[in-house]
Amino acid sequence: MSPQHGARSSAHGGGRPRRRTHRVPGPVRPTATAASEREPEPGAEPGPVAVDREALRADCSACFGLCCVALPFARSSDFAEDKPAGRPCGHLRSDFGCGIHARLRDEGYPGCTVFDCFGAGQKVSQVTFGGTDWRRDPGSASAMFAVFPVMRQLHELLAYTAEALALPAARPLHAELRRALERIDGLTRGTAESVVALDVNALRGEVNPLLLRASELTRARVPGRRREHRGADLTGARLSGAALRGASLRGALLIGADLSDADLRDADLIGADLRGADLAGADLTGALFLTQAQVNAARGDTATTLPPSLSRPAHWESAGGVVDA
Ligand code: SF4
Repeated sequence: MSPQHGARSSAHGGGRPRRRTHRVPGPVRPTATAASEREPEPGAEPGPVAVDREALRADCSACFGLCCVALPFARSSDFAEDKPAGRPCGHLRSDFGCGIHARLRDEGYPGCTVFDCFGAGQKVSQVTFGGTDWRRDPGSASAMFAVFPVMRQLHELLAYTAEALALPAARPLHAELRRALERIDGLTRGTAESVVALDVNALRGEVNPLLLRASELTRARVPGRRREHRGADLTGARLSGAALRGASLRGALLIGADLSDADLRDADLIGADLRGADLAGADLTGALFLTQAQVNAARGDTATTLPPSLSRPAHWESAGGVVDA
């Protein structure tokens, strides 16, 4: 569960000791000359722009446990105790690993299993603060903890922009998307002061129209009627087997919704709240802007089809044995 959903979070890989190699995250940029910006051969499908997205995946081994310290959480079904922002979780080890990583759900911390920093943790640790952690330099702690939530939002925007660049149908927008990607990546490499001073909402307001147009161009290729549920409150809705291919579910509240066996191919799920939604047997092939955190917060089974970039959560059971997230 992400902070935007009112809950706290933590590292997926918190159980393993973090290495001290201090690998510095590289820039997020197209990996080669943007093939999609050249005119395709007549009749040929324009290719996507390949983006190195490694820097947009959490690398807990290069992070100073920032999500376990910087963010607050309130005692709830997601977290077993209250913790103010800036205070290390009592389960955070001295090596920045999580002492209960293998038992998070059993110990009452399911919220820790559904968070994704999109690589912001290692960026703050290794780039903004140059590899010196807050324990070795306590004077940097408050600044480091202030930067992290802003950096997470920047990296989330980077991830969405990189995904849009990979959409062949969004080719008319690739030049603009590429400029946006490079601009945001540059902002993430500023000083701690400059990152904290950023107006991320304004930046999001500039990028969102591009993402929306990329989504529309992509979904326009889906045959038939495309349902519009942008921002809809579908909490607990009975949508089992629903034909939602190419639908807009942007920002929709789907908490606890029954989406079992639903056709969600090519649906836009950016910002949709899927906490506790039943995705057993659902087909999410080509779903747009779907994140690992959203998937982790939902329920599903081995019959759920996910986009190849996403992993089936360990807590999903076999078909016919759906378990709670
Ligand atoms: S229980 Fe604490 S240390 Fe473990 S992942 Fe959650 S916040 Fe981090």
